[in-house]
Amino acid sequence: MHVWKFGGTSVGKPERMQSIRTLITEDNTRKIVVLSALSGSTNTLLAIGEALKANDDGEANAKIDSLKAHYDGFIGELYNTPEGKAAGQQIIDNEFSFIRSLTRVKPFTLKQEKELVAEGELLSTQMFHAYLVEEGVPSTLLPALEFMRIDADNEPEIQYTQEKLAEMLPQHDDKQIVVTQGFICRNPRGEVDNLKRGGSDYTASLIGGAIRADEIQIWTDIDGMHNNDPRIVKNTFPVRELTFDEAAELAYFGAKILHPSTITPARMFGVPVRLKNTMDPSAPGTLIADRTSDQVFKAIAAKDGITALYIHSTRMLNAYGFLRRIFEIFEKYKTPVDMLATSEVSVSVTVDNIDRIKEISDELSTFCSLEEPDYDQTIICIVGNFSADNEGVAVRVFNAMKNIPIRMISYGGTESNLSLLVHSRYKAEALNALNEGLFSV
Ligand code: ASP
Ligand code: MG
Repeated sequence: MHVWKFGGTSVGKPERMQSIRTLITEDNTRKIVVLSALSGSTNTLLAIGEALKANDDGEANAKIDSLKAHYDGFIGELYNTPEGKAAGQQIIDNEFSFIRSLTRVKPFTLKQEKELVAEGELLSTQMFHAYLVEEGVPSTLLPALEFMRIDADNEPEIQYTQEKLAEMLPQHDDKQIVVTQGFICRNPRGEVDNLKRGGSDYTASLIGGAIRADEIQIWTDIDGMHNNDPRIVKNTFPVRELTFDEAAELAYFGAKILHPSTITPARMFGVPVRLKNTMDPSAPGTLIADRTSDQVFKAIAAKDGITALYIHSTRMLNAYGFLRRIFEIFEKYKTPVDMLATSEVSVSVTVDNIDRIKEISDELSTFCSLEEPDYDQTIICIVGNFSADNEGVAVRVFNAMKNIPIRMISYGGTESNLSLLVHSRYKAEALNALNEGLFSV
C-alpha cells in the first residue's frame, strides 16, 4: 500500500482537488491519502485565534466570514451535482458553526486554539472525501484524531498509530482510497493537538512507517528537493536520489520542502519517500531511500536564526568530563545542540532555540568562561557522499568559500554531511559561491 500526501497548494483550488482525484485513482492501487488544509487556511485560522486571544471578536468574526465565503465559493466549483454541492455545503456549515462556537468560549485558551487550527484539515479531507463519493470512487474517511497521538514531550507515538491502524484499516478493505488528515493528533490529555506547522508530511511518514507502506509520496508544487535554495540561487536543479541521511540533514537544516522530522519514521522502517510535483506529475521528482548514488556533492541547505556559544574551560588541560558537564546543562534546559567544534580547552556549539540561553550561560559560567553569544548565524549544510576515502571534498568546499569568513566547520560526524557556520549576512554569497564551486562543471 502507498501513502500519498498532498500539501496546501495541491488542494488549494477546486480544479487541483479534481486533478488529485485523477492522480490517485489512475493506477487502481489502494492508497492512504493524507491532506493538508487548503493553502492559506491554517494561517487564517491562526489569525482568527490571535484576534480571539486579544478579545477582538469583531476582527475574528470578520475573518471567519471571509474564510467561509472562500469555502462556499470553492464547493460551488468542486462538485458537479446538486447532491454533491449539498453534501459539501453541509460539511462547511457544520464546521463553521463549530468555529463560531469557539468564539464564544471565554477565555480563549491554547486548547481552543488547537481545535480551531485543526479545522483546516478537517474541512479539506471531508470536502475531498465527499467529492470522491460524488465521483463514485470507493473511499472512506479515517479520522486522524483516532490514531495519531503525541506523548508528553510532543513526540508522536508510532506504536499507538500502528496498533490503531491495524484495527481500523481492515474494516475498510473494500475501499480503494482511504482519506485522512495530516497535521492533527491528540495529546496525552485527549485534547486536539498538532504536529507543528508543516506537520502533514510528518503524518504521512508516520502512517507509512506504521503500516510498512511500499512507498510514501509527498506531493508539493515543486519538482522534488533542489540542490540549493531556489529563492537565493539561480540555476538550481532537482536532485533525483538522496539517502535517508542526506534528506534528513537537508530537511532539518532548512530545505523548506519537507517538515524536518519527516524522514525519521520512513528511515526507521525502511520505507522509501518520493517527492513529486502535482503541477507536473510525470516529472521524476526525488527518491529518498537507503541506497546512494556515487555522486559526491548532492545538495545544500541553509538554516538561519542560529546562535553560537564559545565555551572555554577554566580548568586544566586534559580534563575529562568537561564535555559531559557542558551537555548536561543543555539537556537540563531541553535545548538541542546542532553543531559542535572542539579544541583541547574549548568548545563552540550552536543552538537554534535561545529561550533558555540565560540559564544555560549562567550555569556554564560556574566552570567555564563564556564570550557574548554570536547571534544571527546561518548553518550551511552540504550533503553528499563524503566517505572517508573520498579525497578532495573539503578542499572543494573551502575553495568555493575562499572569500567568505567561516565561524565553524563540522565534518566527519557522518559520511554524508559537511556543515559550515557563517554570519547570516554572508548566506546568499556563500550559497551562490558553493553552487558555482560544487555544481557547475
Ligand atoms: N496545514 C498545516 C500547516 O499549514 C500543516 C501542513 O500543511 O502540513 O502548517
Ligand atoms: Mg508543507
